[in-house]
Amino acid sequence: MLGSSYLQAMSLLIASESLWYFETNTYVIAPHRGGPAVIVDAPPDPAGVGDLLAKHDLTPVAVLVSHGHVDHVGGVDGIASSTVRAYLHPDDLDMARHPREQLRALLGSGFPTGDDELISTDFVDLSDGETLTLGGVDFEILHTPGHTPGHCCFYVPSEGVLFSGDQLFAGSIGRTDLPGGSYETLMESMAKRVLPLPANTDVLPGHGPSTTLATERRLNPFLQELL
Ligand SMILES: [Zn+2]
Repeated sequence: MLGSSYLQAMSLLIASESLWYFETNTYVIAPHRGGPAVIVDAPPDPAGVGDLLAKHDLTPVAVLVSHGHVDHVGGVDGIASSTVRAYLHPDDLDMARHPREQLRALLGSGFPTGDDELISTDFVDLSDGETLTLGGVDFEILHTPGHTPGHCCFYVPSEGVLFSGDQLFAGSIGRTDLPGGSYETLMESMAKRVLPLPANTDVLPGHGPSTTLATERRLNPFLQELL
């Protein structure tokens, strides 16, 4: 585990841990300590996710996966079950099933060859605009393609919190040079689905520190062309 943070939002418990080699922020969202929790993203460190849940005495009820990159979905088989359903946009399903293939593409010949280990979780499809009530919390699903075709952000209107995955970071945006990525599409998603949210929205990204939409509107160089 590489650092941790704990946020007490207006009424929900939101805690996070930065996990695995790519320091992916995994979040747990719960109405209160000792209750049901929703997990956002599943890096290949199920034990780390388990520690985060245990630290706050939480019982997982669902995993929302922002996109199919290995650092966000690679641990899902160790977390999902018949009672903890995992949610992913269908446009990222093929990608999500082949984590080893992704690493090979990313790391090249240095990555050891071998049998492809497949992700076998039976995902529930996410669809744009739907609201999922999980563990007593409403999550609005924003399909934001660009970083990957099936990338989604998760907005919790009651708290004014956006889990932005690899769409929006503090001072930056997700990379678009990986297979299936498109800068134009990411910027279109930003303009259509992210920027219309209230300026005081807290942004909790898939990597790096949290921020607010107001701060990003002011300081993020990538957003300036859209304002
Ligand atoms: Zn990614």
